Amino acid sequence: MRLISLLVGVVVPFALLSCRSAGGGTKLDGWALAIHGGAGTLSKNTPPAKRQEYEEALTVALAYGRERLARGDSALDVCEAVVRILEDDPHFNAGKGAVYNEKGEHELDASIMDGATLRCGAVTGVRTVKNPISLARLVMEKTRHVLLMGDGAEQFADSQTVERVPNTWFDTEHRKRALDEVLKERASGGAMAAPRSVQHGYGTVGCVARDNAGNLAAATSTGGMTGKRWGRIGDTPLIGAGNYADGWAAVSCTGTGEQFMRHVVGRTVTARMEFGGQTLEQSARAIVADTLQKDDGGLIAVDRDGNLTAQWNSEGMYHGLADASGRFTVGIFAK
Ligand code: ASP
Repeated sequence: MRLISLLVGVVVPFALLSCRSAGGGTKLDGWALAIHGGAGTLSKNTPPAKRQEYEEALTVALAYGRERLARGDSALDVCEAVVRILEDDPHFNAGKGAVYNEKGEHELDASIMDGATLRCGAVTGVRTVKNPISLARLVMEKTRHVLLMGDGAEQFADSQTVERVPNTWFDTEHRKRALDEVLKERASGGAMAAPRSVQHGYGTVGCVARDNAGNLAAATSTGGMTGKRWGRIGDTPLIGAGNYADGWAAVSCTGTGEQFMRHVVGRTVTARMEFGGQTLEQSARAIVADTLQKDDGGLIAVDRDGNLTAQWNSEGMYHGLADASGRFTVGIFAK
C-alpha cells in the first residue's frame, strides 16, 4: 500500500501537468456513458462554426446513448448503436468519412467487447460493410473467433444481414484532400510516414458504457490513419490495445495506433486498477501522460462504479460524457 501511495503521490501531480482531461469521478450507481470522435492535432484556431458542427454531431450521439441507457438498455447494445451513429456521420474517421489508405481506398477496423463475460469480436481491413461495428458484434455472437480479417471478414458478412456498400461510398472530399497532402509531404520528405501533424488521421470513434445492471462495454471503429500502407492493422480491432472491457472498466482509445498496440493501452488501464489498486482516473492519467508520448492521442473510460474519464495528450480530443446524475457535456479541448 505504501508503495502505491508513493507512486500515486509522484505520478498524479506529474500527470496533471502533462495531459489534458475531462471528467473525473464521483461514485454513482446508475448508468454512465462516454464517447469520442478521435484525437489528434486539432487546432484551437479551428473556426467556431466548424467546432460547433463537431459538437453538434457529438451531442446527437451522446443524447441517443443517454436515452437508451436511461430506459434500461444494455451497455453492449448502446455502445454498438452509438458507434453506428458516429460511423454514419462523415465528420468522423469511421464508416462514411473514413480516411484513405496509400492506394486511395478505405480499409475499416472495428471491435466490441462485453465486460461482464469478456466476449468480444473484431474485424480488420473490411471494405464494403457500411457499419463495421455491427459486423464485429456478429463475429462475437455468431463465430467461435474474436478477429476476422479482409476477405474472410467480407465473406462472413455475405452470410449475415449487414448493409453493404461499394468502397467508394466511404469517400469524402476532405479525406481525399488529406490523403493528397500526406502523399505530397511523403514524396518530398522521404520514405518515412508523414509526421502526425499532417496525417489528418483523427476522427476514430468510440463509446464506453456502464448500464443500470452494472455491466460495462466498449466499442471502437476507425478508417485507420491517412495514407497507411494497405494491409496495415491498427490498435482499434486489437482487443486489449485500442478497445477493452472487463469487470473493472471499459476503455476506447484513439491516436497513433502503433503506440497503443505497443503499450496494450486498453487492458493496461484495467490492469493498473486490478493489480495496482489505482482508481480509473489515476490509471488512465498515468498511461496517457507518462507511458504514451505527446500527441499520441487519448482515451475515454468508465469504471464499474460509473466513474468517467477522458484523457488525451494531443491538443484536443472530440469527447462527450453523460451519466444518470444529469451530467451531459461535449467538448474538444480542455476547459
Ligand atoms: N487509432 C487509429 C489507428 O491507428 C487511428 C485514430 O485513432 O486516429 O488506426
